[in-house]
Amino acid sequence: MPSESVTPLHMIDILRKKRDGGALSEREIQFVARGAADSSIPADQLAAWLMASWIRGLSLDETRALTLAMRDSGVRFSPKNLGKRTVDKHSSGGVGDKTSFLVAPLAAACGVAVPMISGRALGHTGGTLDKLEAIPGYRTALTLAEFEAVIAKCGASIIGQTDQLAPADRKLYALRDRTATVENPGLICASILSKKLAAGLNGLVLDVKTGSGAFLRKMEDTEFLAALMVATAESAGTETVALLTDMSQPLGRAAGNWIEQVECVELLRGARPAWSEDLRELSLILAGWMIHLGGQAKTPEAGYQLAEAALTDGAALAAFMKMVDAQGGDVSVFDDMEAFHKPGATLKVDAWESGYVAEMDTTALGWAVQRTGAGREKAGEPVDPHAGILFHARRGARVERGQLFATIYATNAEMLAEPEAILKAAIHFSKTPPHAVVPLVGRVFTRETAEKYLKDSF
Ligand code: URA
Repeated sequence: MPSESVTPLHMIDILRKKRDGGALSEREIQFVARGAADSSIPADQLAAWLMASWIRGLSLDETRALTLAMRDSGVRFSPKNLGKRTVDKHSSGGVGDKTSFLVAPLAAACGVAVPMISGRALGHTGGTLDKLEAIPGYRTALTLAEFEAVIAKCGASIIGQTDQLAPADRKLYALRDRTATVENPGLICASILSKKLAAGLNGLVLDVKTGSGAFLRKMEDTEFLAALMVATAESAGTETVALLTDMSQPLGRAAGNWIEQVECVELLRGARPAWSEDLRELSLILAGWMIHLGGQAKTPEAGYQLAEAALTDGAALAAFMKMVDAQGGDVSVFDDMEAFHKPGATLKVDAWESGYVAEMDTTALGWAVQRTGAGREKAGEPVDPHAGILFHARRGARVERGQLFATIYATNAEMLAEPEAILKAAIHFSKTPPHAVVPLVGRVFTRETAEKYLKDSF
Protein backbone atom coordinates (compact mmCIF):
# COMPACT_ATOMS: atom_id res chain seq x y z
CA MET A 1 0.00 0.00 0.00
CA PRO A 2 1.65 3.31 -1.02
CA SER A 3 1.98 5.92 1.75
CA GLU A 4 -0.23 9.05 1.64
CA SER A 5 2.64 11.22 0.46
CA VAL A 6 3.18 9.22 -2.73
CA THR A 7 -0.42 8.39 -3.57
CA PRO A 8 -1.36 10.46 -6.62
CA LEU A 9 -4.13 12.97 -5.91
CA HIS A 10 -7.22 13.38 -8.06
CA MET A 11 -9.49 16.40 -7.91
CA ILE A 12 -12.60 14.23 -8.17
CA ASP A 13 -11.62 12.43 -4.92
CA ILE A 14 -10.98 15.74 -3.18
CA LEU A 15 -14.36 17.01 -4.35
CA ARG A 16 -16.18 13.94 -3.06
CA LYS A 17 -14.40 14.17 0.28
CA LYS A 18 -15.26 17.83 0.77
CA ARG A 19 -18.82 17.36 -0.47
CA ASP A 20 -19.33 14.65 2.13
CA GLY A 21 -18.01 16.82 4.96
CA GLY A 22 -14.49 15.41 5.26
CA ALA A 23 -11.51 17.50 6.32
CA LEU A 24 -8.85 17.91 3.65
CA SER A 25 -5.19 17.27 4.42
CA GLU A 26 -2.52 19.92 3.93
CA ARG A 27 -1.33 18.05 0.85
CA GLU A 28 -4.81 17.99 -0.69
CA ILE A 29 -5.23 21.72 -0.04
CA GLN A 30 -1.84 22.43 -1.62
CA PHE A 31 -2.92 20.39 -4.64
CA VAL A 32 -6.02 22.58 -5.06
CA ALA A 33 -4.11 25.89 -4.66
CA ARG A 34 -1.39 24.81 -7.09
CA GLY A 35 -3.97 23.55 -9.58
CA ALA A 36 -5.80 26.88 -9.40
CA ALA A 37 -2.61 28.84 -9.97
CA ASP A 38 -1.29 26.83 -12.90
CA SER A 39 -4.75 26.04 -14.37
CA SER A 40 -4.12 22.29 -14.16
CA ILE A 41 -7.49 21.99 -12.40
CA PRO A 42 -10.32 23.16 -14.67
CA ALA A 43 -12.63 25.96 -13.60
CA ASP A 44 -15.67 23.67 -13.25
CA GLN A 45 -13.92 21.54 -10.63
CA LEU A 46 -12.56 24.59 -8.82
CA ALA A 47 -16.06 26.08 -8.76
CA ALA A 48 -17.46 22.83 -7.36
CA TRP A 49 -14.73 22.79 -4.72
CA LEU A 50 -15.51 26.38 -3.75
CA MET A 51 -19.20 25.59 -3.37
CA ALA A 52 -18.50 22.43 -1.34
CA SER A 53 -16.13 24.41 0.90
CA TRP A 54 -18.65 27.22 1.25
CA ILE A 55 -21.39 24.81 2.31
CA ARG A 56 -19.31 22.46 4.47
CA GLY A 57 -16.98 25.15 5.84
CA LEU A 58 -13.23 25.01 6.31
CA SER A 59 -11.71 24.03 9.65
CA LEU A 60 -9.01 26.16 11.31
CA ASP A 61 -6.35 23.74 10.02
CA GLU A 62 -7.78 23.75 6.50
CA THR A 63 -7.97 27.55 6.52
CA ARG A 64 -4.38 27.91 7.64
CA ALA A 65 -3.19 25.37 5.06
CA LEU A 66 -5.16 27.09 2.29
CA THR A 67 -3.81 30.52 3.24
CA LEU A 68 -0.21 29.35 3.13
CA ALA A 69 -0.69 27.28 -0.03
CA MET A 70 -2.27 30.26 -1.80
CA ARG A 71 0.52 32.53 -0.57
CA ASP A 72 3.07 30.08 -1.95
CA SER A 73 1.24 29.59 -5.25
CA GLY A 74 3.50 32.28 -6.70
CA VAL A 75 6.63 34.11 -5.67
CA ARG A 76 6.95 36.18 -2.53
CA PHE A 77 7.89 39.83 -2.62
CA SER A 78 10.90 40.58 -0.47
CA PRO A 79 10.88 44.10 0.96
CA LYS A 80 14.49 43.77 2.27
CA ASN A 81 15.96 46.33 -0.15
CA LEU A 82 13.46 48.97 0.91
CA GLY A 83 15.18 49.32 4.28
CA LYS A 84 11.90 50.17 6.02
CA ARG A 85 9.21 48.27 7.83
CA THR A 86 6.43 47.28 5.46
CA VAL A 87 2.82 47.54 6.58
CA ASP A 88 -0.46 47.26 4.73
CA LYS A 89 -4.19 47.49 5.35
CA HIS A 90 -6.91 45.29 3.88
CA SER A 91 -10.65 45.44 4.22
CA SER A 92 -13.02 42.49 4.28
CA GLY A 93 -15.13 44.38 1.72
CA GLY A 94 -17.74 47.10 1.79
CA VAL A 95 -19.67 49.69 -0.19
CA GLY A 96 -17.98 53.04 -0.83
CA ASP A 97 -14.99 51.54 0.97
CA LYS A 98 -12.15 53.66 -0.37
CA THR A 99 -9.80 54.02 2.58
CA SER A 100 -6.89 52.44 0.63
CA PHE A 101 -6.44 55.65 -1.38
CA LEU A 102 -6.02 57.55 1.88
CA VAL A 103 -4.19 55.16 4.19
CA ALA A 104 -1.51 54.13 1.68
CA PRO A 105 -0.28 57.70 1.07
CA LEU A 106 -0.82 58.67 4.74
CA ALA A 107 1.38 55.83 6.00
CA ALA A 108 3.91 56.40 3.21
CA ALA A 109 4.14 60.09 4.09
CA CYS A 110 4.93 59.04 7.68
CA GLY A 111 7.86 56.80 6.74
CA VAL A 112 6.23 53.39 6.35
CA ALA A 113 6.61 51.33 3.16
CA VAL A 114 3.24 50.14 1.82
CA PRO A 115 3.27 47.26 -0.70
CA MET A 116 -0.46 46.91 -1.28
CA ILE A 117 -1.88 44.02 -3.31
CA SER A 118 -5.60 44.57 -3.84
CA GLY A 119 -8.53 43.06 -5.68
CA ARG A 120 -11.30 43.91 -8.12
CA ALA A 121 -15.00 44.24 -7.40
CA LEU A 122 -16.23 41.19 -5.50
CA GLY A 123 -19.91 40.37 -5.04
CA HIS A 124 -21.74 43.56 -4.08
CA THR A 125 -18.54 45.37 -3.08
CA GLY A 126 -16.39 47.62 -5.24
CA GLY A 127 -12.79 46.85 -6.15
CA THR A 128 -9.74 48.97 -5.36
CA LEU A 129 -8.18 48.08 -8.72
CA ASP A 130 -11.30 49.04 -10.70
CA LYS A 131 -11.38 52.37 -8.87
CA LEU A 132 -7.70 53.03 -9.60
CA GLU A 133 -8.15 52.17 -13.27
CA ALA A 134 -10.67 55.01 -13.47
CA ILE A 135 -7.52 57.15 -13.63
CA PRO A 136 -6.43 57.01 -17.29
CA GLY A 137 -3.18 55.11 -17.74
CA TYR A 138 -2.90 53.77 -14.16
CA ARG A 139 -1.28 50.31 -14.33
CA THR A 140 -2.42 47.83 -11.70
CA ALA A 141 -0.25 45.00 -13.10
CA LEU A 142 3.42 45.65 -12.39
CA THR A 143 6.38 43.30 -12.39
CA LEU A 144 7.98 42.68 -9.00
CA ALA A 145 10.89 44.94 -9.97
CA GLU A 146 8.50 47.76 -10.94
CA PHE A 147 6.50 47.25 -7.73
CA GLU A 148 9.65 47.59 -5.66
CA ALA A 149 10.82 50.64 -7.63
CA VAL A 150 7.50 52.46 -7.10
CA ILE A 151 7.54 51.75 -3.35
CA ALA A 152 11.17 52.91 -3.12
CA LYS A 153 10.30 56.14 -4.93
CA CYS A 154 6.86 56.93 -3.47
CA GLY A 155 6.58 54.93 -0.25
CA ALA A 156 3.51 53.06 -1.54
CA SER A 157 2.32 51.08 -4.53
CA ILE A 158 -1.12 49.58 -5.13
CA ILE A 159 -1.32 46.71 -7.60
CA GLY A 160 -3.38 43.54 -8.18
CA GLN A 161 -2.66 39.84 -7.93
CA THR A 162 -0.55 38.78 -10.91
CA ASP A 163 0.67 35.53 -12.46
CA GLN A 164 3.64 35.97 -10.13
CA LEU A 165 2.01 37.24 -6.93
CA ALA A 166 -0.78 35.21 -5.33
CA PRO A 167 -1.91 33.64 -8.66
CA ALA A 168 -4.17 31.15 -6.87
CA ASP A 169 -6.15 34.03 -5.40
CA ARG A 170 -6.32 35.71 -8.80
CA LYS A 171 -8.07 32.62 -10.16
CA LEU A 172 -10.24 31.74 -7.14
CA TYR A 173 -11.23 35.37 -6.47
CA ALA A 174 -12.72 35.76 -9.94
CA LEU A 175 -14.45 32.37 -9.68
CA ARG A 176 -15.94 33.16 -6.27
CA ASP A 177 -17.34 36.38 -7.67
CA ARG A 178 -19.23 34.37 -10.33
CA THR A 179 -20.34 31.41 -8.23
CA ALA A 180 -21.85 33.01 -5.10
CA THR A 181 -19.08 31.62 -2.91
CA VAL A 182 -17.72 34.82 -1.44
CA GLU A 183 -19.25 34.89 2.05
CA ASN A 184 -17.29 32.21 3.85
CA PRO A 185 -14.81 33.01 6.65
CA GLY A 186 -12.17 30.44 5.59
CA LEU A 187 -12.27 31.49 1.94
CA ILE A 188 -12.19 35.21 2.82
CA CYS A 189 -9.30 34.65 5.25
CA ALA A 190 -7.22 32.70 2.70
CA SER A 191 -7.98 35.17 -0.08
CA ILE A 192 -7.04 38.26 1.91
CA LEU A 193 -4.03 36.83 3.71
CA SER A 194 -2.51 35.00 0.74
CA LYS A 195 -2.07 38.37 -0.99
CA LYS A 196 -0.88 40.13 2.13
CA LEU A 197 1.58 37.46 3.19
CA ALA A 198 2.96 37.20 -0.36
CA ALA A 199 3.87 40.88 -0.04
CA GLY A 200 6.30 40.02 2.78
CA LEU A 201 4.68 42.38 5.27
CA ASN A 202 6.01 43.16 8.74
CA GLY A 203 2.64 44.47 9.85
CA LEU A 204 -0.97 44.26 8.73
CA VAL A 205 -4.08 46.20 9.72
CA LEU A 206 -7.35 44.46 8.91
CA ASP A 207 -10.57 46.43 8.55
CA VAL A 208 -13.27 43.86 9.20
CA LYS A 209 -16.67 45.19 8.24
CA THR A 210 -19.82 44.53 10.19
CA GLY A 211 -23.44 45.42 9.48
CA SER A 212 -25.79 45.32 6.51
CA GLY A 213 -23.11 45.85 3.86
CA ALA A 214 -20.57 43.33 5.13
CA PHE A 215 -20.08 39.88 3.61
CA LEU A 216 -20.66 38.42 7.09
CA ARG A 217 -23.42 40.38 8.74
CA LYS A 218 -23.81 38.77 12.16
CA MET A 219 -21.53 40.14 14.85
CA GLU A 220 -20.37 36.69 15.95
CA ASP A 221 -19.37 35.84 12.36
CA THR A 222 -17.49 39.11 12.00
CA GLU A 223 -15.66 38.55 15.28
CA PHE A 224 -14.78 35.01 14.22
CA LEU A 225 -13.42 36.23 10.87
CA ALA A 226 -11.34 38.92 12.59
CA ALA A 227 -9.90 36.48 15.13
CA LEU A 228 -9.27 33.86 12.44
CA MET A 229 -7.36 36.28 10.22
CA VAL A 230 -5.30 37.76 13.06
CA ALA A 231 -4.32 34.34 14.43
CA THR A 232 -3.52 32.99 10.95
CA ALA A 233 -1.41 35.98 9.91
CA GLU A 234 0.40 36.07 13.26
CA SER A 235 1.24 32.38 13.02
CA ALA A 236 2.75 33.14 9.60
CA GLY A 237 4.97 35.81 11.16
CA THR A 238 3.16 39.09 10.40
CA GLU A 239 2.18 41.35 13.30
CA THR A 240 -1.53 41.88 12.75
CA VAL A 241 -4.49 43.71 14.25
CA ALA A 242 -8.12 43.68 13.15
CA LEU A 243 -10.56 46.52 13.74
CA LEU A 244 -14.29 45.80 13.55
CA THR A 245 -15.82 48.73 11.68
CA ASP A 246 -19.29 49.83 10.73
CA MET A 247 -20.73 48.98 7.31
CA SER A 248 -24.39 49.60 8.07
CA GLN A 249 -24.27 52.36 5.47
CA PRO A 250 -21.90 53.23 2.60
CA LEU A 251 -18.63 54.76 3.79
CA GLY A 252 -18.53 58.43 2.83
CA ARG A 253 -20.90 59.54 0.14
CA ALA A 254 -19.59 58.08 -3.13
CA ALA A 255 -19.83 54.48 -4.29
CA GLY A 256 -18.50 53.81 -7.77
CA ASN A 257 -15.15 54.24 -9.47
CA TRP A 258 -14.05 57.76 -10.45
CA ILE A 259 -16.46 59.37 -7.96
CA GLU A 260 -14.64 57.54 -5.13
CA GLN A 261 -11.32 58.94 -6.34
CA VAL A 262 -12.86 62.41 -6.25
CA GLU A 263 -14.04 62.00 -2.66
CA CYS A 264 -10.56 60.86 -1.57
CA VAL A 265 -8.66 63.58 -3.41
CA GLU A 266 -10.94 66.22 -1.89
CA LEU A 267 -9.99 64.92 1.56
CA LEU A 268 -6.30 64.73 0.62
CA ARG A 269 -6.56 68.37 -0.44
CA GLY A 270 -7.73 69.23 3.06
CA ALA A 271 -11.51 69.55 2.56
CA ARG A 272 -13.72 68.53 5.51
CA PRO A 273 -17.20 67.92 4.04
CA ALA A 274 -19.61 66.53 6.63
CA TRP A 275 -20.55 63.63 4.31
CA SER A 276 -16.96 62.33 4.25
CA GLU A 277 -16.29 62.68 7.98
CA ASP A 278 -16.65 58.92 8.65
CA LEU A 279 -14.27 58.13 5.79
CA ARG A 280 -11.73 60.66 7.06
CA GLU A 281 -11.93 59.43 10.64
CA LEU A 282 -11.70 55.74 9.78
CA SER A 283 -8.78 56.36 7.42
CA LEU A 284 -6.87 58.24 10.11
CA ILE A 285 -7.51 55.48 12.66
CA LEU A 286 -6.37 52.76 10.23
CA ALA A 287 -3.35 54.81 9.14
CA GLY A 288 -2.53 55.44 12.81
CA TRP A 289 -2.32 51.70 13.38
CA MET A 290 -0.21 51.24 10.24
CA ILE A 291 2.21 53.94 11.35
CA HIS A 292 2.39 52.35 14.80
CA LEU A 293 3.04 48.84 13.40
CA GLY A 294 5.54 50.44 11.01
CA GLY A 295 7.56 51.58 14.02
CA GLN A 296 7.03 55.29 13.39
CA ALA A 297 4.78 55.93 16.43
CA LYS A 298 4.74 54.48 19.95
CA THR A 299 0.97 54.04 19.97
CA PRO A 300 -1.82 53.94 17.36
CA GLU A 301 -3.09 57.21 18.83
CA ALA A 302 0.29 58.85 18.21
CA GLY A 303 0.16 57.36 14.71
CA TYR A 304 -3.24 59.02 14.23
CA GLN A 305 -1.71 62.41 15.11
CA LEU A 306 1.09 61.89 12.58
CA ALA A 307 -1.39 60.81 9.92
CA GLU A 308 -3.58 63.85 10.56
CA ALA A 309 -0.56 66.14 10.22
CA ALA A 310 0.34 64.46 6.89
CA LEU A 311 -3.23 65.02 5.72
CA THR A 312 -3.24 68.65 6.77
CA ASP A 313 0.16 69.65 5.41
CA GLY A 314 -0.35 68.04 1.99
CA ALA A 315 2.33 65.35 2.39
CA ALA A 316 -0.20 62.54 1.83
CA LEU A 317 -1.62 64.28 -1.26
CA ALA A 318 1.89 64.55 -2.69
CA ALA A 319 2.56 60.86 -1.95
CA PHE A 320 -0.69 59.84 -3.67
CA MET A 321 -0.01 61.89 -6.80
CA LYS A 322 3.55 60.62 -6.96
CA MET A 323 2.35 57.01 -6.79
CA VAL A 324 -0.32 57.55 -9.47
CA ASP A 325 2.25 59.19 -11.74
CA ALA A 326 4.82 56.44 -11.13
CA GLN A 327 2.23 53.80 -12.13
CA GLY A 328 1.45 55.56 -15.40
CA GLY A 329 -1.66 57.43 -14.25
CA ASP A 330 -2.50 60.81 -15.75
CA VAL A 331 -2.56 63.12 -12.74
CA SER A 332 -3.84 66.03 -14.86
CA VAL A 333 -7.36 64.53 -14.56
CA PHE A 334 -7.36 65.73 -10.94
CA ASP A 335 -7.01 69.38 -12.11
CA ASP A 336 -10.72 69.52 -12.92
CA MET A 337 -12.31 66.42 -11.44
CA GLU A 338 -15.84 67.45 -12.39
CA ALA A 339 -14.96 68.06 -16.04
CA PHE A 340 -13.35 64.61 -16.26
CA HIS A 341 -16.53 62.94 -14.97
CA LYS A 342 -18.63 62.00 -18.02
CA PRO A 343 -21.37 59.53 -17.04
CA GLY A 344 -23.57 58.23 -19.86
CA ALA A 345 -26.76 59.12 -17.94
CA THR A 346 -27.61 60.85 -14.66
CA LEU A 347 -30.69 60.61 -12.45
CA LYS A 348 -31.37 62.73 -9.40
CA VAL A 349 -33.46 60.75 -6.92
CA ASP A 350 -35.49 62.82 -4.48
CA ALA A 351 -36.61 61.45 -1.11
CA TRP A 352 -39.86 59.61 -1.75
CA GLU A 353 -41.02 59.94 1.88
CA SER A 354 -40.41 62.30 4.78
CA GLY A 355 -38.81 60.87 7.89
CA TYR A 356 -35.55 59.70 9.43
CA VAL A 357 -33.24 57.44 7.44
CA ALA A 358 -33.56 54.47 9.79
CA GLU A 359 -32.14 51.44 8.00
CA MET A 360 -30.10 50.89 4.89
CA ASP A 361 -29.68 47.50 3.28
CA THR A 362 -26.13 48.33 2.27
CA THR A 363 -25.59 45.04 0.44
CA ALA A 364 -28.55 45.91 -1.81
CA LEU A 365 -27.09 49.39 -2.27
CA GLY A 366 -23.85 47.73 -3.39
CA TRP A 367 -25.79 45.75 -6.01
CA ALA A 368 -27.49 48.98 -7.10
CA VAL A 369 -24.04 50.49 -7.67
CA GLN A 370 -22.95 47.41 -9.63
CA ARG A 371 -26.05 47.68 -11.88
CA THR A 372 -25.18 51.27 -12.87
CA GLY A 373 -22.27 49.75 -14.81
CA ALA A 374 -19.72 50.43 -12.06
CA GLY A 375 -19.37 46.66 -11.47
CA ARG A 376 -19.26 43.72 -13.85
CA GLU A 377 -21.71 40.94 -14.67
CA LYS A 378 -19.06 38.55 -15.97
CA ALA A 379 -15.41 38.06 -15.08
CA GLY A 380 -13.02 40.02 -17.24
CA GLU A 381 -15.62 42.54 -18.41
CA PRO A 382 -14.60 46.18 -18.32
CA VAL A 383 -16.34 48.39 -15.75
CA ASP A 384 -17.63 51.90 -16.37
CA PRO A 385 -15.26 54.31 -14.60
CA HIS A 386 -17.88 57.07 -14.54
CA ALA A 387 -20.78 55.07 -13.08
CA GLY A 388 -21.85 54.90 -9.45
CA ILE A 389 -24.09 56.51 -6.84
CA LEU A 390 -23.64 59.60 -4.67
CA PHE A 391 -25.62 59.47 -1.44
CA HIS A 392 -26.81 62.81 -0.09
CA ALA A 393 -28.29 61.60 3.23
CA ARG A 394 -26.81 59.42 5.95
CA ARG A 395 -28.37 57.06 8.49
CA GLY A 396 -30.14 58.97 11.21
CA ALA A 397 -30.65 62.08 9.03
CA ARG A 398 -34.06 63.72 8.81
CA VAL A 399 -35.16 64.16 5.19
CA GLU A 400 -38.22 65.76 3.66
CA ARG A 401 -40.06 64.29 0.70
CA GLY A 402 -38.71 65.91 -2.48
CA GLN A 403 -35.27 66.65 -1.02
CA LEU A 404 -32.32 65.32 -3.05
CA PHE A 405 -31.47 61.87 -1.68
CA ALA A 406 -29.08 60.30 -4.21
CA THR A 407 -27.59 60.88 -7.65
CA ILE A 408 -27.26 57.86 -9.91
CA TYR A 409 -24.66 57.88 -12.69
CA ALA A 410 -25.14 55.03 -15.18
CA THR A 411 -23.58 53.90 -18.43
CA ASN A 412 -26.76 54.74 -20.34
CA ALA A 413 -30.34 55.83 -19.68
CA GLU A 414 -31.65 52.23 -19.79
CA MET A 415 -29.42 51.40 -16.85
CA LEU A 416 -30.94 53.96 -14.48
CA ALA A 417 -34.23 52.27 -13.57
CA GLU A 418 -32.86 49.12 -11.92
CA PRO A 419 -30.46 50.86 -9.51
CA GLU A 420 -33.20 53.35 -8.67
CA ALA A 421 -35.65 50.56 -7.82
CA ILE A 422 -33.05 48.70 -5.71
CA LEU A 423 -32.10 51.92 -3.93
CA LYS A 424 -35.71 52.72 -3.04
CA ALA A 425 -36.33 49.23 -1.70
CA ALA A 426 -33.12 49.31 0.35
CA ILE A 427 -33.92 52.41 2.43
CA HIS A 428 -36.35 52.45 5.34
CA PHE A 429 -37.62 55.67 6.86
CA SER A 430 -38.98 56.02 10.39
CA LYS A 431 -41.12 58.64 12.08
CA THR A 432 -38.83 58.91 15.08
CA PRO A 433 -35.01 59.09 15.16
CA PRO A 434 -33.49 55.59 14.93
CA HIS A 435 -31.65 54.15 17.93
CA ALA A 436 -28.03 55.20 18.14
CA VAL A 437 -26.20 53.70 15.24
CA VAL A 438 -23.20 51.42 15.84
CA PRO A 439 -19.85 53.10 16.48
CA LEU A 440 -17.55 53.57 13.50
CA VAL A 441 -14.89 51.38 15.13
CA GLY A 442 -15.74 48.62 17.59
CA ARG A 443 -13.65 45.82 19.02
CA VAL A 444 -9.96 45.54 18.17
CA PHE A 445 -8.37 42.08 17.89
CA THR A 446 -4.68 41.61 18.56
CA ARG A 447 -2.78 38.30 18.65
CA GLU A 448 -3.65 37.68 22.31
CA THR A 449 -7.35 38.46 21.99
CA ALA A 450 -7.67 36.55 18.72
CA GLU A 451 -6.06 33.41 20.12
CA LYS A 452 -8.19 33.58 23.25
CA TYR A 453 -11.32 34.10 21.17
CA LEU A 454 -10.60 31.06 19.01
CA LYS A 455 -9.66 28.94 22.04
CA ASP A 456 -12.88 29.89 23.83
CA SER A 457 -14.96 29.23 20.69
CA PHE A 458 -13.78 25.67 20.06
N1 URA B 1 -11.11 40.93 0.01
C1 URA B 1 -10.39 39.92 -0.53
O1 URA B 1 -9.28 40.14 -1.02
N2 URA B 1 -10.92 38.70 -0.54
C2 URA B 1 -12.12 38.42 -0.01
O2 URA B 1 -12.52 37.28 -0.04
C3 URA B 1 -12.87 39.47 0.56
C4 URA B 1 -12.34 40.73 0.57
